[in-house]
Amino acid sequence: MIDTDTLEELTDRLQSLLGPDYVTVQQTDKVLNAHDAWPLSEAKIRAGEMLPLADIIVFPSTTREVSEILKIANQFKVPVIPVGGGAGTCGGTLAIYGGIQLDMKRFDKILDLDETSMLVHVEAGVVGVDLEEYLNRHGYTSGHTPTSVRSSNVGGFIATRSGGSMSSLYGKIEDLTLGLEFVLPNGEVISCKSIPRHSVGPDLKQLFIGSEGTLGVITEATLKIFPLPEERRFRSVSVPDVSTGLTVIRRIFRAGITPSIIRLYDPEDTAFSVSTHFSVDEGDCMLMLAFDGTPAQNDLDEESVMQISLADGAKDYGAEPAKRWWDHRYDMYYPSPFTTSGYAIGDTIDVVATYDKLEQVYHAMKSAMEAHEAVVLSHFSHMYPTGGSIYMIFFTAQPDADTAWATYRKIWDDGVAACLREGGTMSHQHGVGLSRSTYTENELGSSFSVLKRIKQILDPNEIMNPGKLGLGVRK
Ligand SMILES: Cc1cc2nc3c(=O)[nH]c(=O)nc-3n(C[C@H](O)[C@H](O)[C@H](O)COP(=O)(O)OP(=O)(O)OC[C@H]3O[C@@H](n4cnc5c(N)ncnc54)[C@H](O)[C@@H]3O)c2cc1C
Repeated sequence: MIDTDTLEELTDRLQSLLGPDYVTVQQTDKVLNAHDAWPLSEAKIRAGEMLPLADIIVFPSTTREVSEILKIANQFKVPVIPVGGGAGTCGGTLAIYGGIQLDMKRFDKILDLDETSMLVHVEAGVVGVDLEEYLNRHGYTSGHTPTSVRSSNVGGFIATRSGGSMSSLYGKIEDLTLGLEFVLPNGEVISCKSIPRHSVGPDLKQLFIGSEGTLGVITEATLKIFPLPEERRFRSVSVPDVSTGLTVIRRIFRAGITPSIIRLYDPEDTAFSVSTHFSVDEGDCMLMLAFDGTPAQNDLDEESVMQISLADGAKDYGAEPAKRWWDHRYDMYYPSPFTTSGYAIGDTIDVVATYDKLEQVYHAMKSAMEAHEAVVLSHFSHMYPTGGSIYMIFFTAQPDADTAWATYRKIWDDGVAACLREGGTMSHQHGVGLSRSTYTENELGSSFSVLKRIKQILDPNEIMNPGKLGLGVRK
């Protein structure tokens, strides 16, 4: 934490840069900004625990201001924590060592729509839903609609390598980001220009995508856009088990078909999420699909998919289960299912693996997590030709806070250990933040030391979001 004299001097410098309205040291502001959507931070607040607070929160609106803030922070050697929409699920915006929270919400302008090249150029604080609605009005889609689209912004998406519900067809944010403006920790502004492909050395932009505020601040981005599909068609089938479901999915990709949505629910998640509305045989798994295209294209794709799945023993459920999920996909988050009372706590572990390992990762993680008396529901929801992700939701109820936090940690530790042991990767879309930072070294292996050296070169004073991504951890 910053001592009183330094805080006064730092606040003066920041106020003369941004104006007094855009710098706050108010306790209420700091308390409101003390957590993101990390279930553990929310549970601790409900239990009456105090989380670490930032010393100052600033609201810049130009790249020059961001650059000056980072220069000042370097002079004072204080942490800077970028804040996007604050809907991250891994504690990425928590000010664990105090310092300056740099809130990007005033970077809210859509700067250019390039219909010739099919690109949109935006400031980093544009909220996902505002971008999507703007594009829809012009006949386009971003193709990037994570469930947090109403509360997260473009900078947060890019900083965490997020994935929308239709990533199978449109790609994740790292596929969609063509250009980037980025402020390095020393205040230097760099620009990675928009270009469809290139052959001029490594793609440096990819170094900053997923850097979670540890290497600097994203201020602008250029993203791909797509024509709004003429039709989004839904179809659902049930399969006897996870193994059959994954086989069907692999066969769909091998047939050259790319549905926009592919969601395979395991028996427990089918019972929880689907059987309450549709009659599904006990133990069966629901596979939900959507196709984006013209009606003629969708006819062909749907017919092929039905042939593939029925040949593998699937039962046809028509459009409804998938359509219902689409129509109600935000419901379960408002309010969050994790904001339960007492010392019940839940979270999601979103992992990813290639098909040869995916099923084993699922079984190993499920039994490791269930060993701590957790209820575990899983679905495979971002599928690609080479593999896909598993979204494992767990809940545990404990008699007191200490047992709840310890059990929660054991479920994470053993779940992630099982994932890594079986050759999976510990996050597909949520990022690392604070909640997974202790596992980064195991996950990245020998390449972690390269990441640490890059951090050392770009951020020698370790001001940028220390403690996140396993970087800049302080005693
Ligand atoms: C209900 C709910 C549903 C969700 N569904 C999905 C989903 O479908 N798919 C998915 O991928 N995620 C999902 N998430 C997780 C989360 O919303 C994403 O990780 C999102 O990308 C975070 O964006 P944000 O703007 O909220 O970032 P924040 O939480 O504000 O920040 C996240 C991290 O990025 C850094 N950061 C933010 N902005 C910048 C910037 N401009 N420059 C540098 N660093 C920055 C922060 O320092 C922090 O480390 C969900 C979360 C919730 C609560």
